[in-house]
Amino acid sequence: MLKYLVIQLADDAASYCHYENVSKGVQFISVENLKTAIRFGMVENLNIQFIYPKRALPDGYAEIIETIDHTKIIPCAAPNSKSADIVVCNSIEEIEGYNFDKEQIVILRIYRSEVNELPRIYDLLKGKCARLNVVLRDVEKFSEGDFEDYKSLLAQLGNKVTTSLIEGGNAQLNLLTDRLVLNTMNNCNAGDEVVAIMPNGKFYPCAGFYYDNPNEDFGDLMRGVQIKKRQLFKLSYAPICRHCDAYHCRRCAWLNRKTTLEVNTPSHEQCVVAHLERNESGRILSSIREACEYEPETTIPEIDYLDPFEKRKEW
Ligand code: SF4
Repeated sequence: MLKYLVIQLADDAASYCHYENVSKGVQFISVENLKTAIRFGMVENLNIQFIYPKRALPDGYAEIIETIDHTKIIPCAAPNSKSADIVVCNSIEEIEGYNFDKEQIVILRIYRSEVNELPRIYDLLKGKCARLNVVLRDVEKFSEGDFEDYKSLLAQLGNKVTTSLIEGGNAQLNLLTDRLVLNTMNNCNAGDEVVAIMPNGKFYPCAGFYYDNPNEDFGDLMRGVQIKKRQLFKLSYAPICRHCDAYHCRRCAWLNRKTTLEVNTPSHEQCVVAHLERNESGRILSSIREACEYEPETTIPEIDYLDPFEKRKEW
């Protein structure tokens, strides 16, 4: 069942996830499409997220947007970034230069070569924003050496998060703290619970599919949402993921299709990275349990694999 509608306000709206915005277009969604998309979201009772470009919106758009409850996702370089619920930084330089708001969630999109900066960025943002979500822009390029480096990096971050949580802080870092409170999958769910409407008035599982091929739409504002092979976007039809307990993993359908040509089959790299995070979350949970003598409801058992595909004979 659909729960979220992502409304992309312009072709060059921010990417806040794994895909890159490769559009050369600068078209804003038309006023008519914007109003129809909002009406669609209202009728279907969907949570609406508006995705902004760096440029100012044309006159009149802001008033239309405010006609419905929504979440604003805005690049930190945009003139209205202070009104964002979620602000997107596309580099270390951008995040260093941004004047944070304690209420805002910050998305930082970085490359694997930059992850060593994360402990410093974590310290920089501590207490200055509601939450830090890190998105790896090139997770599919991780090598065996990168996995080792990432594991060490997560251990450093894990120590900082553990100290903060034991001291009573509310350290929210998607890579390590999401799994601490999850007992079931909490993934992106594009194409199943989430659809995006693009400036051309057509639906896609997410903007990444539009940028790959705008002709592969999943319906439009006239015909409604028509998701082809919808079952393939569901966890129950994901042969590997449904045996997995890296519950915080984005399980990115766009990345799956890019790397394996199947929306429901992940790459080895996506799985290993998510399991390194899962395992570090397990260590944090054990430390908290020892230090605070409290019994969290979540369990993160020790496992002997980093990619559930290795265990397929046991399923
Ligand atoms: S770690 Fe791999 S198997 Fe597990 S949810 Fe993520 S993509 Fe699916």
